[in-house]
Amino acid sequence: MSKRDYYEVLQVQRNASEAEIKKAYRRLAMKYHPDRNPDDKEAEEKFKEAKEAYEVLSDAQRRAAYDQFGHAAAHQSMGGGGGGGSSFSDIFEDVFGDIFGTGGRGGGSRVYRGADLRYNLTLDLEEAVHGTTIQIRVPTLVTCGSCNGSGARAGSTPTTCPTCGGHGQVRIQQGIFAVQQTCPNCRGSGKIIKDPCPDCRGQGRVQEHKTLSVKVPPGVDTGDRIRLAGEGEAGENGGPPGDLYVHINIRPHPIFTREDNNLFCEVPIGFVTAALGGELEVPTLEGRVVLKIPPETQSDKVFRLRGKGVKPVRGGAVGDLLCKVMVETPVNLSEEQKELLRRFQDSLDHRNDHHNPRSHSWLDGVKKFFEGLRG
Ligand SMILES: [Zn+2]
Ligand SMILES: [Zn+2]
Repeated sequence: MSKRDYYEVLQVQRNASEAEIKKAYRRLAMKYHPDRNPDDKEAEEKFKEAKEAYEVLSDAQRRAAYDQFGHAAAHQSMGGGGGGGSSFSDIFEDVFGDIFGTGGRGGGSRVYRGADLRYNLTLDLEEAVHGTTIQIRVPTLVTCGSCNGSGARAGSTPTTCPTCGGHGQVRIQQGIFAVQQTCPNCRGSGKIIKDPCPDCRGQGRVQEHKTLSVKVPPGVDTGDRIRLAGEGEAGENGGPPGDLYVHINIRPHPIFTREDNNLFCEVPIGFVTAALGGELEVPTLEGRVVLKIPPETQSDKVFRLRGKGVKPVRGGAVGDLLCKVMVETPVNLSEEQKELLRRFQDSLDHRNDHHNPRSHSWLDGVKKFFEGLRG
């Protein structure tokens, strides 16, 4: 059976807008609907014909294909369904939803929440541990004041997009599936701006720099983020703004390294202090404290200063400061000092490394290693 031209079926011009096509179909569907024409074969055929024409012409992509290549192209991707089955109720609701009050799609333009923004904030360790307030300048999109976000020049208003009828979405057939896609004509806004606002060039939003005050709570660490609600980009079509996330990064510190809530530092000590014991001033983030070094302290020994670490931002116990002492070999010795050291060396008891606990256990290990080799 040869098909009639779809525009002819709907009795509209070839350049008819989507609204005109919809209106034409609605009129025909009301007239030929099977409920109104029981047992009328001809009415049923006309109803089906109008429905098929509407299915194609109401879909931007299929309409374009039909305009260019005719019936075959418009049905090429229908997967043999030929417009039967479930799509009927969809289209019915699409067209009649608004008059029958079934909800439908409303026809309003879509409102989008603005994008979240990320700001990278690098802090000194001291600032992170004690907390601080920092002013940051962020580029952001804000609602255009000239057009109040509509994008249309003052005094004009945006018009409904003819391609999607204001839905912001079009339906395209992919195999047997109908998928919703953002309308390519209005890019989802449902509106076409004929006379764009000169200040935002029709975007409804303009880029601005704003200065924000970020309150950094004590104890934050690299990887933490602070959320500033509503300080992200302005929404589209009057949608709510996104949030701004401040990502914290801590600069390396010349003395301390941080691991969770503990702080580490290395403290060099002279070998005489290490041997005889003594007192040492060590730095903390709250100032200097005195560390008692016991006699016979070995290199790499770690001293724990309780509660001198970081107070965690989410509560809990304050961390510790861990000081690792490094015994230093003296340099730039005078002849007299060298002579004293030689005399000191001669004074040592060399039998079984009495004075050198590490050498003793090390030599033991070496001996066992060579015995193991001989097997
Ligand atoms: Zn504007
Ligand atoms: Zn559109």
